[in-house]
Amino acid sequence: MFELAAQLRLDRAAPVFDLSLGNPSLEPPAAWRRAVLELLTDEPPGMHRYMTNAGFGEVRAFVAAHEAKRYGVPFEPSDVTMSVGAAGALNVLAQAMLDPGDEVVVPAPYFSEYEHYCATVGARLVVVPSGPGFALDLAAIDRAIGPRTRWLLLNSPNNPTGVIYDAAQLDALARLLARANGGRGRAIAVIEDAPYRDLVYDGSVVPSMLTRYPDTVLVTSHSKDLGLAGERIGYLLISPRLADREGLTRAAAYCTRVLGFVNAPALMQRMLPKVLADPEGRVDVSVYANKCRRMAGALTELGFELPVPRAGFFLFPALPERMRTEGGGDVELTERLVAERTIVVPGIAFGAPGHLRLSLATDDATVDGAIAAFCRVCG
Ligand code: PLP
Repeated sequence: MFELAAQLRLDRAAPVFDLSLGNPSLEPPAAWRRAVLELLTDEPPGMHRYMTNAGFGEVRAFVAAHEAKRYGVPFEPSDVTMSVGAAGALNVLAQAMLDPGDEVVVPAPYFSEYEHYCATVGARLVVVPSGPGFALDLAAIDRAIGPRTRWLLLNSPNNPTGVIYDAAQLDALARLLARANGGRGRAIAVIEDAPYRDLVYDGSVVPSMLTRYPDTVLVTSHSKDLGLAGERIGYLLISPRLADREGLTRAAAYCTRVLGFVNAPALMQRMLPKVLADPEGRVDVSVYANKCRRMAGALTELGFELPVPRAGFFLFPALPERMRTEGGGDVELTERLVAERTIVVPGIAFGAPGHLRLSLATDDATVDGAIAAFCRVCG
C-alpha cells in the first residue's frame, strides 16, 4: 500500500490521502536533540566502538531502574538487553527461544510481521480470534494451546486495533496459563510486545503480564513514543521470575551478535537516560488522540463500528453490514478508496477480514481528505 501511495503521488495534480503506514508523523521531542548534541559535544574516546552485545552497562542499569519503578518489579541490569527496535528484540527472542515446529499463539488481529519473524526459525503462528471489542477470547486461547505451544504473543496497546488488554483479562490469562503449564516440562512464555505503551491518551500505565505471570518477556522501543523509528532503539526485559532467566540473558546477547545486529546503536542507547529522565522527553500524544477521535467519529456516522480510541495512532473499524461480502468486503472497499486517492490497509492483512486499518500518524489535511473520500464511497 505504501508503494501504491508513492505511485499515486507521481501524479502531482491531485493530493493522495495516505493512511497506510504506521510511520510516526510527530518529530522527536526537543529533549532528544538536546541530549544528542550534549553527547556529541562532550564525549570521551571510544564511545562509537563495539560494546558488550547486550548494550552499555549504565544504560541497562538505567532501564532496569526505570522499569522497576513503573511495574514495581525488581529488575536487574542483566534483565535488559538493548535491541535494534522492538522488531530486533522479537527476532532475537525468536532465535533464542523457538525451535522448528514450535507454535506461537497470537490473538487476531495481529501485527503481520509476526508471521515472518516466526517463519525464520521454522515456528508456526497459531491465530486465535478475539472477543467483542477485540478483548482477549480466553476460551479460544485455551483451545489453541497444544503440546508444541512455546509462546503466547501479546501486543497491547494493539496494532492494528488500538485496544489495551485490561487488568482483569490479564489476571484471568495468567490463571489460564498456570493451569495449562501443569504437566509441561517447560512453561509457555508470554512475549509482550509494547511499543505503544507510552502513547496512551489518558497517560495511564498499561497493565502488563510482567506483574502477573513469571515467564514473561517484555519488548519495547522508542520508534513511536519518541518518533525515532529510523534510529532503531529498543530493548527486551526479562522477568526476574522467568524459569531460565540467566540462560535467556546469555542467549539474547549471543543472538543479538549472530543475527548481525552486534549491538543496539551506541548513540541512541546513550541518549535514553537523558531523554527519559526529562519531563519533556515525549511526543505530544494528544495530537494523535485528536486525529483518531475525529476519524473515529466520522466513521461511526457512516456506520462503521470500532472501539473508542485509547492509545497509539491506529483505527481498525469493522465495515458496515451493508458493505460486507462473503470474503469480508475489506479488499473491495480498499480498492474503491484507492480510486478516491485514499490509501488504507485491508483487515485481511492482519488476519481479520471485514475491517480496515487506518494510520492517523499523518497531517490534518490528509485526515480531512480521507474523511471526504470515505463519505463519497460509503455515504
Ligand atoms: N510491534 C508492533 C506491534 C509494531 O506495530 C511495530 C512497528 O510498527 C513493531 C513491533 C516494530 O517496531 P520497531 O520499529 O520498534 O522495530
